[in-house]
Amino acid sequence: MENFDSTHLEIRAKDLYSYATITITPFKKFYKSLFYMKAKEKLRVILFYKFVELEELETLKNKHLNFMNDLGVRGRILLGKEGINGSISGNKKQIQKYKTWLKCDKKFSNMSFKEETCIEHPFRKNTVTVRDEIVTIGKKVDMNNKGKYITAKELKKIYENGLKDTVILDARNNYEHKIGHFKDSIDLDIENFRDFPKALEKIENLKDKKIITFCTGGIRCEKATAYMQENGFNNVYQLKDGILNYGKKFPDTYWKGKCFVFDKRLITELNKKEKKALTKCETCEEHSDLYRNCRNLQCDKLYTQCVPCQDTFNGCCSSECFEKFREHCMVRGLKNRQNMNSQKV
Ligand SMILES: [Zn+2]
Ligand SMILES: [Zn+2]
Repeated sequence: MENFDSTHLEIRAKDLYSYATITITPFKKFYKSLFYMKAKEKLRVILFYKFVELEELETLKNKHLNFMNDLGVRGRILLGKEGINGSISGNKKQIQKYKTWLKCDKKFSNMSFKEETCIEHPFRKNTVTVRDEIVTIGKKVDMNNKGKYITAKELKKIYENGLKDTVILDARNNYEHKIGHFKDSIDLDIENFRDFPKALEKIENLKDKKIITFCTGGIRCEKATAYMQENGFNNVYQLKDGILNYGKKFPDTYWKGKCFVFDKRLITELNKKEKKALTKCETCEEHSDLYRNCRNLQCDKLYTQCVPCQDTFNGCCSSECFEKFREHCMVRGLKNRQNMNSQKV
């Protein structure tokens, strides 16, 4: 209860869901943003990573942060001794300048970028963080053991010929899998990538099968496949450039649902025709893939809820939680705010 403040929303990736769902309600604001989308130039968002030995991380951090601030882009960069992992948004010109600047550093000269368009900046500010790992698996992994690449085209071909003995493995978290995944892929039911090594016990029987892993942009697969090959899986491949690249090249084929992304957007569409949500609103059973955390922090359940139900229960998973949340707000001295629906977190 004591933790209830806006910073809580920034702590965990899954809480990003709450931020977005709160900001798109009520309806009026939602439609306004749709209108706004048409009127304004689309922004680009790029995702990139590279495993490469980096030094003087604090200096590098400042260099990146200063450049990003000066250029006026927004984004999030992770730097570590093992490499760089980032996502940046800006207009076409800014993104082009950023790419050129990044490639000037010879360590990043052959960087490849995944690019999408978006309506508003998916990040609120620029952050550059130094971490032990640029994608955290929590184990020492020799990246030389990483799985061979399978291109999007090759994966499509494999599906067309029937999977037969090939196994498609989701390297992402369970809540990502739920709202979208490749047809007949295996979900390891993990909440965090750190749980990936332990979860492999569930598929010990597949050690000699051909396994193709996939994730959003490819970075998790680099570590996942290296770890797998070090631990007795003999025939492991990874989808090159991830789901985002596949969706761009072959929409409406073997990807079902939407793709979760770790920024303010939360969800990105890959398919052009088939857009129906794979999940249901847990309150009214209507189709919905809008995730959020229950606002009653004693519950804090991650669940899917449609926009009308979010309005009715004010972002809580049930009427019980709504009551508790309301009591909590009163205790916190928020009782003067008559209209709780317009309350900003
Ligand atoms: Zn509902
Ligand atoms: Zn609840």
